[in-house]
Amino acid sequence: MIFEQINGYIQSFFYYIFIALLIAYLFLSRKSQERKKALVFFFWGIIFFLVMIAAVLTVAYGLPSYLPTVFFVLLAGTSLTLYRERFFPFKFKCRKCGAKLKSNEIMLEKDYLCADCSNDEGSEE
Ligand SMILES: [Zn+2]
Repeated sequence: MIFEQINGYIQSFFYYIFIALLIAYLFLSRKSQERKKALVFFFWGIIFFLVMIAAVLTVAYGLPSYLPTVFFVLLAGTSLTLYRERFFPFKFKCRKCGAKLKSNEIMLEKDYLCADCSNDEGSEE
């Protein structure tokens, strides 16, 4: 019963998550200095899209209702463990001094350096 409910959520919400991730991808691919970070959203978009398709097919063919959930967990789990660099390359702390980074430094800039450290590096060059 619970999985049927989850499938319902998947079918009604994953489409919007998919669209939101694609928009984030398009936005970041213009803004971010690193294409890799934009692609993260694209890859996650694909995962959500595939799971949504799986939920639709499960209902259409009367397959066991836990399949889409299992599929999602497997897909997200293997992506994060085997392809961590691709699916979650973000670092939240400065590479040099360990200070907490601001969201735009995480998402848009290249080297995971805080403002102070990237100024230092800029003046060394
Ligand atoms: Zn720093």
